[in-house]
Amino acid sequence: MAKILVINAGSSSLKYQLIEAEKEECLAKGLVERIGLKGGLHHYTRTGEDKLTIKKDVGDHTQAIELALEMLLDPEKGVIKSKEDIVAIGHRVVHGGERFSESVLIDNEVMEAIRENCRLAPLHNPHNLKGIEACVKIFGKTPNVAVFDTAFHQKMPPHAYLYALPISMYKEHSIRRYGFHGTSHFFVAHQAAKALGKPIDELKIITLHLGNGASMSAVKGGYSIDTSMGFTPLEGLVMGTRCGDIDPAIPIFMMERLGMEHTEINTILNKKSGLLGLSGISNDMREVEEAAEKGDENAKMALKIYAYRIKKYIGEYTAVMGGVDALVFTAGIGENSALIRKMSLEGLEFLGIKIDEKKNVEENGKFARVEKKGSKVAIFIIPTNEELVIARDTYNICKVI
Ligand code: ADP
Repeated sequence: MAKILVINAGSSSLKYQLIEAEKEECLAKGLVERIGLKGGLHHYTRTGEDKLTIKKDVGDHTQAIELALEMLLDPEKGVIKSKEDIVAIGHRVVHGGERFSESVLIDNEVMEAIRENCRLAPLHNPHNLKGIEACVKIFGKTPNVAVFDTAFHQKMPPHAYLYALPISMYKEHSIRRYGFHGTSHFFVAHQAAKALGKPIDELKIITLHLGNGASMSAVKGGYSIDTSMGFTPLEGLVMGTRCGDIDPAIPIFMMERLGMEHTEINTILNKKSGLLGLSGISNDMREVEEAAEKGDENAKMALKIYAYRIKKYIGEYTAVMGGVDALVFTAGIGENSALIRKMSLEGLEFLGIKIDEKKNVEENGKFARVEKKGSKVAIFIIPTNEELVIARDTYNICKVI
């Protein structure tokens, strides 16, 4: 049985899962937090058992992976006997630029290309690279595969990915829409097609990945033909702490009239806006919903703006696809917030989108269909599983080498 280790390496955290590829079963998963900081934590869960939390300071990504491996090999709590049981390692890599429209086996040239894309994703790719380098160090010749967040969106047509800037900005500086969360959009769109019993190439699907970061995609004929995140993950929907779409002149105003430095503006747009900025309470949807329920006006407005933005994108994507067959809600908020699903779809009955309010609440958090009888559009809640897509791609690529 082929066991695949899936790694998602961030700046100070590293998530991992060990997946049995043929059965598509997760055997164990973990999260190492506060890498390089004091107060390191390692959460580990063997499937079907309670989560263990071990306190240990972790200096770097190599140590984090060593810690993960130690648990996976533990005679009592582990799931493998030797590190050679891991046949391949799949890595989430945020930015594949224009070079990668699919997952690839990592060699020196691919490493160089990922490194080159650090200029496009300075907050993500360098850490993804650290995860890969750590695995090469620890696992030697075991193959590594990169699965890119941008890949699924690489078939977007130029009229969707080009901004109306001087064309030299694209040609000389690669400034264009890339889109992110591709693995999740791909996964839930395919799950929806399967549940509908129709080939995906005959369907028009709008996927809504609403987590801390949030994006939507118009998936037509199995391809992402447009998506709400752009050159960076800042564009599009209202997010936990990111503003999403704003007038591009606002940062210039902040600079020229408010005397702000670009770093300060960057922090405001990425870290202090969105749900947190609007509500003044939290970036966590649960807390914003709670506050709104207690009557907090800022929290109520934050929810309204959040849902309104989603509604606008549903209209946009229905228009560009010439209709819609299914909507798919996924990720933390998409899967678990009945309120946001309801608010986002209110008033869209004219498009044939009718949500069943009772089902929407009862089926919260599960794989379910929650449209009303007679709704022309299917409405799904589908838990995302990016790790599974990474494990599948890694397995399929390594099977043939
Ligand atoms: P990430 O992008 O970090 O992977 P997640 O997909 O886990 O994020 O989503 C996190 C978001 O999901 C948070 O805003 C959290 O409040 C929200 N969330 C989780 N459970 C619920 C719930 N029951 N109701 C509303 N929001 C929820």
